[in-house]
Amino acid sequence: MLTNAPRGTKDMLPEDAYKWHYIEEAFADICRRYGFREIRTPVFEHTELFTRGVGDTTDIVQKEMYTWNQSDRSLTLRPEGTSPVVRAFVEHKMYADPQPSKYYYNIPCFRYEKPQSGRQRQFHQFGIEIFGTNDMMADAEVIALGKEFIEGLGIRDVELQINSIGCPKCRDSYRNALREYLKPIYDKLCDTCKDRYERNPMRILDCKSPEDQELVKEAPLMIDYLCDECKAAFEDLKTDLGSMGIEYKVNPGIVRGLDYYTKTAFEFVALSIGSQGTVCGGGRYDHLSEELGGPPIPGVGFGLGKERLLMLMDSNGVEIPKPMGADAFIAFMGEAPKAAALKLMRGLRKEGLHVEMDCMARNIKGQFKYADRMGVRNTVIIGENELALGKVTIKDMETSTQKQIPFGEILTELKKEK
Ligand code: ATP
Ligand code: MG
Repeated sequence: MLTNAPRGTKDMLPEDAYKWHYIEEAFADICRRYGFREIRTPVFEHTELFTRGVGDTTDIVQKEMYTWNQSDRSLTLRPEGTSPVVRAFVEHKMYADPQPSKYYYNIPCFRYEKPQSGRQRQFHQFGIEIFGTNDMMADAEVIALGKEFIEGLGIRDVELQINSIGCPKCRDSYRNALREYLKPIYDKLCDTCKDRYERNPMRILDCKSPEDQELVKEAPLMIDYLCDECKAAFEDLKTDLGSMGIEYKVNPGIVRGLDYYTKTAFEFVALSIGSQGTVCGGGRYDHLSEELGGPPIPGVGFGLGKERLLMLMDSNGVEIPKPMGADAFIAFMGEAPKAAALKLMRGLRKEGLHVEMDCMARNIKGQFKYADRMGVRNTVIIGENELALGKVTIKDMETSTQKQIPFGEILTELKKEK
């Protein structure tokens, strides 16, 4: 028996591919306007890139990575886009370029999660990163690009939520406060979170178990423990967003699922697609490069789920323009007309037109029927008669009108109708 696609993966069929092209072109275009250049990194990396970058107490590293051994190295399919881009940036010493550096990517990611609507095991992300500056203008620029992109596609019901999750300095006192709060309920936590209690209690706030979520509802919030520097940065961010006329809501509950974030954390949340409502998430990561063994290079960026984006466009009633049918179908009867038709098709394709012909030995009636089903815009008919006259019959399929024109005028005629 033929095997199926693995659970949590999806075939992208031609009837949907045009939607992906549409959002990919829109994303490349906005990135160009904001000065971001594309970067492509491998689909797999050394496992330690993610254990160190994403963090070994996160769900991603603990439960969700596709990891295998090859020779004596452990390799992992990329579960997220930022660590690989930082790795490439450091590896190729791109910090020697004028700073800041701005990159975008368009990638598949892999996480072993429970598949459900808006959650797959292979999913696809757009992302952007700005490296080399601590200035909150960069955070505001990242957010502005995300907002303009999402709204530019016609999505209306998305809310921007921002938070600050502090820096290693202020996190210490917050961690202590959090442990104090969690101590009396420690026994009720799930096993993973029991382990996180000592190693990284903030991760408990991001636990997916509903019981744990309920338990931490009233937990102290990072935003109340920010040091002066982080507080000032958060104010700067709000000012810069305000200057750009970008509305936001402060959501102190945002923690993000990756350890590398510092200061700014944000999400674009859609209320219309239920629990998988975060279409885009990002923030600042000032110490990621050092965690990976590189020089200190601050950064800020986001990841945006393409499947969720398409779901949202759908629920917002956005119509993505369907690709046009073929410009022309050349129907022929007889051997000499076939040769002329083949030559004509080749010439018209070279001129940039989409032209089709029958290669299933259909009779003329069958060819017309096929052309009709394909939704072509014109049918060009070549028979022995036409060939003798040096003319073709051209039929506009929409209006059903037809006329005879000389061979030499076919191209002009077909282009005229575009
Ligand atoms: P969630 O809280 O929904 O699990 P996340 O915090 O794990 O999301 P990020 O790591 O920030 O997500 O990834 C950025 C974006 O990628 C998400 O906002 C979402 O749109 C998308 N995304 C993440 N995981 C998946 C998945 N398994 N399937 C589809 N899209 C995903
Ligand atoms: Mg997740």
